Amino acid sequence: MDFEQLCELVYNAGIVGAGGAGFPTHKKFSKKVEQIVVNAAECEPLMMADHHILAHHFKAIAETLFVLKDALGAKEVLVGIKGKNTGLLDKKVLKSLEGTAIKIAEIPDVYPAGDEVVLVYETTGKIVPEGAIPLAVGVMVINAETVYNIHSALVRNENVTQKYVLVGGDVERDIIVRAPIGMRISEFLAQCGYTELDGKAVIDGGPMMGKLVNPKIDVITKTTKGILVFPETHAVIQRKRAPMSITLKRASAACCGCHMCTDMCPRYLLGYNIHVDKTLRAASHSEVTNANAFTEAALCCGCGVCTVIACQQMLDPQKISMSVKGELARQGFRRTDNKSPEKVREERAGRLVPSSVLIDRLGIRRFVKDGAERKNIKFNPKTVYIPLLQHVGKIAEPKVSVGDMVKAGDVIAETDKSMLGAVIHASISGTVKEITDRFIVIER
Ligand code: SF4
Ligand code: SF4
Repeated sequence: MDFEQLCELVYNAGIVGAGGAGFPTHKKFSKKVEQIVVNAAECEPLMMADHHILAHHFKAIAETLFVLKDALGAKEVLVGIKGKNTGLLDKKVLKSLEGTAIKIAEIPDVYPAGDEVVLVYETTGKIVPEGAIPLAVGVMVINAETVYNIHSALVRNENVTQKYVLVGGDVERDIIVRAPIGMRISEFLAQCGYTELDGKAVIDGGPMMGKLVNPKIDVITKTTKGILVFPETHAVIQRKRAPMSITLKRASAACCGCHMCTDMCPRYLLGYNIHVDKTLRAASHSEVTNANAFTEAALCCGCGVCTVIACQQMLDPQKISMSVKGELARQGFRRTDNKSPEKVREERAGRLVPSSVLIDRLGIRRFVKDGAERKNIKFNPKTVYIPLLQHVGKIAEPKVSVGDMVKAGDVIAETDKSMLGAVIHASISGTVKEITDRFIVIER
């Protein structure tokens, strides 16, 4: 398969990054890629969907990595996985990879090992310049499930209509299921056996970077890695729910200027010019004289180390930094200087955050299970609400009309291939009932 064929296949299958923000995968491909790094870090506490995929589909992933390597002309592929999780990988497949260009790159059990800037450093030793993408240093990072989705498109001609999802948190047993995209989370949880959600809050994603959702409205998307059920009163939920106005008032009143939040920031420790203490003080004191204090927030990955680990005053620099970053993006601000740190800061090694410390700091030790059971639930939602924007870039344009009959896997919306965007497919067979500016509704 050559480069153009690979781009075509991946675009047509609607493949976007299965973890994180959903960057359209065909737009990551470049002939300048020297190294492919597979993100198998699974660094958010409680998340286990990638573990399942690696444990059960490592052969398929390895085969697909050879296809990717050849089509992109990369020299090597590094599977970035925590040392404690290498036991998940099939030993026969590992043996078959010896002496090949596919290597296992063990990364430390720290948070946020899966942030792509951190992952690139831990696997290749390269530092991605500020504000740039890994391609700037010849690296393409791809999530393990994304690779598996490419395999499904290559071998079974499958489009992305289903998603591996972990259900965990304050539940008796964690399970891994494969669910249709566009299914309402309340219905999804009910079919998983969780009908009683009174006094509970639901997060799409991990406790650090995941978003609170309204299960009656929000749906499973191409980027849903996990659905966590938490007690409404838990500190993780209270922090996520706190309104920005209160967060800013508290910051204004209680920040002591210790700059521990900056000192512990994983991107600062990689040498980036990011000073979240200054962003917090500028935002909470309405100080508009230092533009850098705001624009540096564009370098924030939203990991939350500053909030959960660093700040002893219980302030929330993560929320303020991500809010500023969001506003910069809305205003069309882009960093163009792309400075390259020459080396990581000396103190980095002593300031890495072990996963176990993070779990205790979050107060979620009681939600940690040994593993998750794979359940083959045959989900049969009567209606799905398929979002037109499940990816970074331009919203997809509907290609169907109300009243059309569609089959699972049919194209229902797409973005022009030359633009940053993705194709969207029907996840169930049925009739198009409604098209809004955000969803296509299909009824069985
Ligand atoms: S959330 Fe905080 S610690 Fe994480 S990158 Fe942003 S500023 Fe740094
Ligand atoms: S760690 Fe907390 S108190 Fe210290 S500078 Fe940062 S936000 Fe302020």
